Amino acid sequence: MTKLLSVDNLTVEFAGPSGPVRVVDGISFSLEKGETLGIVGESGSGKSVTSLSIMRLLPKGKAAIAQGDIRLQGESLVRLSEKEMRNVRGKRIAMIFQEPMTALNPVFKVGSQIAEAIRRHARISRKAARKEAIELLGDVGISAPDQVANAYPHQLSGGMRQRVMIAIAMACNPEILIADEPTTALDVTIQAQILDLMRKLQRERGTAIILITHDLGVVAETCDKVSVMYAGQIVEQGDVGRLFREPKHPYTMGLLKSIPQFSGKEKQLYSIAGQVPHPADYPAGCRFADRCPFKMDVCVTDEPGAVDFGNGHRCKCHLYGRETNAGVD
Ligand code: SF4
Repeated sequence: MTKLLSVDNLTVEFAGPSGPVRVVDGISFSLEKGETLGIVGESGSGKSVTSLSIMRLLPKGKAAIAQGDIRLQGESLVRLSEKEMRNVRGKRIAMIFQEPMTALNPVFKVGSQIAEAIRRHARISRKAARKEAIELLGDVGISAPDQVANAYPHQLSGGMRQRVMIAIAMACNPEILIADEPTTALDVTIQAQILDLMRKLQRERGTAIILITHDLGVVAETCDKVSVMYAGQIVEQGDVGRLFREPKHPYTMGLLKSIPQFSGKEKQLYSIAGQVPHPADYPAGCRFADRCPFKMDVCVTDEPGAVDFGNGHRCKCHLYGRETNAGVD
């Protein structure tokens, strides 16, 4: 059966002073209707570049898809013209970002901005679009939506603005919603409300979601499956339940340990020492080697192959030998 979205061997390069720098390196994953996929990793792992590639919003002249394909219900997005891609953006795949102020226009009232998003893809009157916009504001949990429609973005709280962004994203009932760190700038209570809202809309509309986050705790609460990215590669992927129960990659284990644990009054915090290497300085062997507590000699010299643990659970690490080498998608 054709997948809703399939990303195959996606490789993205940025122009660097000494030649192209590979920021995303041969990643593959897929998404079915109504499913939520978490893409998790630290900043510099390539997760946001992945989402911009799907939207074909990489900065022109600075970055490009060097290899691989992205297919939406079997149709290659990589081969679409810019004009054809404009019909995909917003209508079939929509995106929300961490900071809604950068995406909202400060000089237009939010109701007009939602109505405009509706009219970009549907031939309806201004009056009908405004009515739909107010309904959408109600759907995303805004009370007194007709009053809020008349507000400017700066008159709303961060949580309200993110709800407005979700209303704009859902305006054309997209098949896929990409949410890039949608709750990072919000306080914990509002974060939970926004995640609840996304889950509700997904249930009601069957939208598939790609959730880009640095926070495995958010993945645990929201996602069906997860791809863990490190230094431009997917180092582990699988169903959320299984990956949380039986993490295989030392990086995933470190991320899981980093989720704050509360035992009695004590809050135990853990963080993985070191930083993601710069794409121009990726080592020859395992890219996580400098930070890995299980590092062996082979890790420094040879890039790890990948091991398939069954049911879509795969991991790229020398700890598990190479005899079952199956390639992390
Ligand atoms: Fe650690 Fe080696 Fe596995 Fe890399 S390949 S994660 S260094 S054990």
